[in-house]
Amino acid sequence: MSSQAPSHPPSIDAIVERAGQLGCPRALVVREARHAADRARRGEITIDEIDGEVREAIAALRRPSLRRVINATGVVLHTNLGRAPIGSIDQIEGYSNLEFDLRSGKRGKRDVHAGSLLSRLLDRPAIAVNNNAAAVYLVLHELAAGREVLVSRGELIEIGDGFRIPDIMARSGAILREVGATNKTSIEDYRSALSDRTALILRVHPSNFHISGFTAKPGLDELAALAREAGVPLYEDLGSGCLTDLREFGIHEPLVRDSFAAGVDVVSFSCDKLLGGPQSGIIAGRKDLIERVRKNQMYRAFRCDKLIVAALESTLRRLLFEELNEVPALWMIRRSANEIKARAEDMLEGLSADLVPGHSVIGGGSTPDQRLATWLIALRGDAVAWERKLRASRVPVIARIADDRCLLDLRTVFPADEGELRSALFVK
Ligand SMILES: *Cc1c(COP(=O)(O)O)cnc(C)c1O
Repeated sequence: MSSQAPSHPPSIDAIVERAGQLGCPRALVVREARHAADRARRGEITIDEIDGEVREAIAALRRPSLRRVINATGVVLHTNLGRAPIGSIDQIEGYSNLEFDLRSGKRGKRDVHAGSLLSRLLDRPAIAVNNNAAAVYLVLHELAAGREVLVSRGELIEIGDGFRIPDIMARSGAILREVGATNKTSIEDYRSALSDRTALILRVHPSNFHISGFTAKPGLDELAALAREAGVPLYEDLGSGCLTDLREFGIHEPLVRDSFAAGVDVVSFSCDKLLGGPQSGIIAGRKDLIERVRKNQMYRAFRCDKLIVAALESTLRRLLFEELNEVPALWMIRRSANEIKARAEDMLEGLSADLVPGHSVIGGGSTPDQRLATWLIALRGDAVAWERKLRASRVPVIARIADDRCLLDLRTVFPADEGELRSALFVK
């Protein structure tokens, strides 16, 4: 007990009385008043601080907890900041034709909104679910439950947050049949593992790590030929669904269309990685297989809400019409170091900071080792204090600390947020 502990417990009624002006349900005030009084009793705050504590607690409940932030880390798909940033979404307030066919006046399917764009982008039927983890589960559950799935030992990966391929496979009811070694798997390894129990061959894109040295694995086309010969589908979990060629910007990610060209039957991928859309997952490929997956009872548990459908549709339309700068993550990746330098020079004016060359990263568990050249604003002074101050701004600014310096990378800052960022930097 601290010496500040009061001898008389504060009266809840009196606190509630004084908080009367807050204009919110009495029960809410009573609850916060009890909480503040308990804290005062334990000596964590003084009696004088109780009213302020209640006021602050209620104000905090009124403010959205999920807030817009300025990402100055230079990590384009920042897992903690919601991966791909959200661009403008075509309006869908109120009701929508989510499952209503406006032409016939009959019941429609929610798949058509993203589906018609996806079928043009991918040349294959496709459906969307809540994320790629759900997509992987659904494909394995529908196409391989109770039967074997061949996977290379080098592809039994953990994506992050405990999402592991072997575990998801066990949950789906499919039986994992490991093939080859961690660093080397040959087409013969797959061939000798084939049996009448085999339902599927799975290729997993190792999105967040890189095996180098004495390594080998068969090409997708070889694997596709073997799958055809054996009469089983080839399914590729692509991780990051890259629909646009970003090689000229230094990003080497397999393109979805290359997988189909190689003969893959079904692919799945995330929409909030390199595709640049909202959290969701796409399953695309051979018509008969997609129809089966669509009819799986678990599809209903994984289907996307209308807000996601709207955001996904907006993103896909921009990709189809090649308006790549309208997809924020792609706009960011496509900026040159010189362009960022020029913006940083403007930001620097009157600021105690240096401009230093550095790297932005893609992040989001994709494109390991792939970095983009950039220019960083290195703030002079206490890095930890800077980071904390920026994070406490009206629109929180998330910066990065490296080598005891607080760094800002404008690659991931929207130009429209530069004014806000500058005010955050100059706040006393
Ligand atoms: C990211 C990733 C997943 C999981 O996707 P979510 O959309 O985050 O659920 C699955 N597999 C691979 C290879 C990935 O890179």
